[in-house]
Amino acid sequence: MEVILSKSLGFCSGVGHVIGLAEECFRIATDKQLPVYSIGWFIHNQRVVDSFIARGMRHIEHPEEGIPGVALIRAHGIPDTLRQSFVDAGYFLVDGTCHNVAYSQNIIRNTPAGTTIVIAGIVGHSEVVALSGLWDSAGKLVPVSVVESAHDVSLLPDRSGECLLMTQTTLPAVQYKEISNAMKERFGQRLTIGNHLCPGALRRNKTLIDLCGQVEAVVVVGGLKSANTTALARIVAEQGLPVWHIESAQDVVPQMRVFERIGLTAGTSTPQNDIDAVHRALIGETI
Ligand code: SF4
Repeated sequence: MEVILSKSLGFCSGVGHVIGLAEECFRIATDKQLPVYSIGWFIHNQRVVDSFIARGMRHIEHPEEGIPGVALIRAHGIPDTLRQSFVDAGYFLVDGTCHNVAYSQNIIRNTPAGTTIVIAGIVGHSEVVALSGLWDSAGKLVPVSVVESAHDVSLLPDRSGECLLMTQTTLPAVQYKEISNAMKERFGQRLTIGNHLCPGALRRNKTLIDLCGQVEAVVVVGGLKSANTTALARIVAEQGLPVWHIESAQDVVPQMRVFERIGLTAGTSTPQNDIDAVHRALIGETI
């Protein structure tokens, strides 16, 4: 059996960056003799999370859950009120906000007052929560509306003036297209497009579709709670191929080996050593 790897798999630039900063948090915490925290887990992969917990990093959502220490901000960012509450409580913050997300945040912060800001995204997704909690230069919350579908666009209140469409960078492309078309139809010339879907995530999806054309089935490696890994498995299913979403080499089963050619991809929070271990297990080196 031949295993064909997707041309884009594993850590994206944002996750790679925040993992490097997690190491920096440990260094600063050791230096200053302080506890080390992650504000919301910065990676949706339980195996990686467990390895950081084992080294003493604790997950907190609010400053009162710990004594002040070094705290890492996840790649999706956090609302400004929450950021300020950690600073006021005496925490030393290390900002792991991905550059794509920071770019989106700056657009919202600097949008002229009176503009209707609409975010295409999943309500409650951490990136959307952060984008919904930003302050302008005067320290006032910038109001936004979140839409998940074209139907939500039709429910937006009627307002005159300019409108800005922002998006959760990892929203599925089909969903974004549906929303942006509805926004263009509704707001016409008044609409400005602010940011775009993450180019890395789009490339990953495209290379996976290409891979599906070369194989009979696909194994997707990544946390079972990882939204982007689940989305990859969905893409494979939409291409009509058998797909397994697994977390590690221990999950490789003999049924995966009946194919002549099987594809292998991985979510943005899957470490390279997990991908390598699954690859070896698939070709029968270990299980
Ligand atoms: S998927 Fe894209 S936007 Fe999200 S953390 Fe990775 S690089 Fe940043």
